Amino acid sequence: MFQIYDYKEIVTPLFEDKDLFVRSIGQTSDIVEKQMLALAGQRQEEQEGKTSNLVLRPEGTAPIVRSYIQNHLDKKENLSKFFYIGPMFRGERPQKGRLRQFHQIGAEAIGPGSASPYLDAEMVILCTDLLKTLGLNGFEVTINTLGTGDDKKNFSSILRGKLEPRVKDLCPDCRQRIERNVFRVLDCKNNDCQDVVRQISVGYDHLAPESRDYYEQFKSILSDSGIAFVESPRLVRGLDYYTHTVFEISSPSLGSQDALGAGGRYNNLVSQLGGTPADAVGFALGMERLLLARPGIKIPAVSLAVFFIALDKLSFQYAFNLLNQLRARSIKADICYEMGSLKSQMRIANKKQAEYVIILGENELKNKTATVKNMASSQQITLPLDAPALEQFISRQGKREP
Ligand code: AMP
Repeated sequence: MFQIYDYKEIVTPLFEDKDLFVRSIGQTSDIVEKQMLALAGQRQEEQEGKTSNLVLRPEGTAPIVRSYIQNHLDKKENLSKFFYIGPMFRGERPQKGRLRQFHQIGAEAIGPGSASPYLDAEMVILCTDLLKTLGLNGFEVTINTLGTGDDKKNFSSILRGKLEPRVKDLCPDCRQRIERNVFRVLDCKNNDCQDVVRQISVGYDHLAPESRDYYEQFKSILSDSGIAFVESPRLVRGLDYYTHTVFEISSPSLGSQDALGAGGRYNNLVSQLGGTPADAVGFALGMERLLLARPGIKIPAVSLAVFFIALDKLSFQYAFNLLNQLRARSIKADICYEMGSLKSQMRIANKKQAEYVIILGENELKNKTATVKNMASSQQITLPLDAPALEQFISRQGKREP
């Protein structure tokens, strides 16, 4: 799926300097305040006069931005499109849907001048496409916009003005959040806080006309692309780095921890972390949540096109050579290394759901042919014993790895 959308894989270390997350997600976010898991016994090293303080990574975006900056990727391509799959760590109280080690699958698109509502829409489309491919249905896409950094400042003071008269109705944490990071009151799971948040009016007065325009374009692109969504001006996300578009995908079947994933645009993060300014947008899905929403989920794999069966040592030598040649031509192929009877090797081919079996034995070598069996129809044909002929036949059936 990621290949179809032209995203390439990026792998970052499992630990990073704590400072990276403080500077990106924000000092007052739940993750930084309460959930960082520090590495015990780390060697304290002074680098550029600073002592490093390593933590297990709680999320994927900040490490990817760090890598983007350190590797000068802005000089190498206009728009870098990455996907990642890997473990994340947060020191939370373990409960259903909230683990201390969980896995995220996500994507990021980073590049100078790449802020486009079409790219934001691509992220939502990719994310929902992925969910549908995994067999998940009935999820809900909620969207909102936070506007630019300045719009966010306006929004903070408007919110503060509305919440201050209700301060006594808020939980102790939120009483402090009003001053320190008022957006987090909107995210608070406490029932009293949610009541207050429901009662105050939250609109789009804080947005500059360009931000409004950007958001309107994003919404109409989503509609034109057939993506159903609901709009919630109260969706702010708990991390500091978001600007403009934010979105969340939830599954009503999950109960209180109903978010399958979330994402948004973060145009200021690259420069905030010391890079040349670059716009960016991304999302992350929680894999364990996907499994809760659809137990037994299977990642669709490209099926095995060819399984070689060799009936004696010399045939195996030939088969192994052909196997390598087909693989070099991007055809997904395998061989049975345990040279049992034809019947037992056929059983393995069946288990592997191979589409074609190529059988080589004494007769085939003598006649310089290969017996090719279509496993679905059980039809058998004889082809010349050479890779181009086999490749041509298999490719004609459309069995080449993308
Ligand atoms: P976040 O990075 O907090 O926006 O999380 C993105 C997605 O990761 C969430 O929507 C969840 O699906 C998943 N997720 C976040 N934290 C946890 C956790 N502690 N355990 C399991 N999944 C999580």
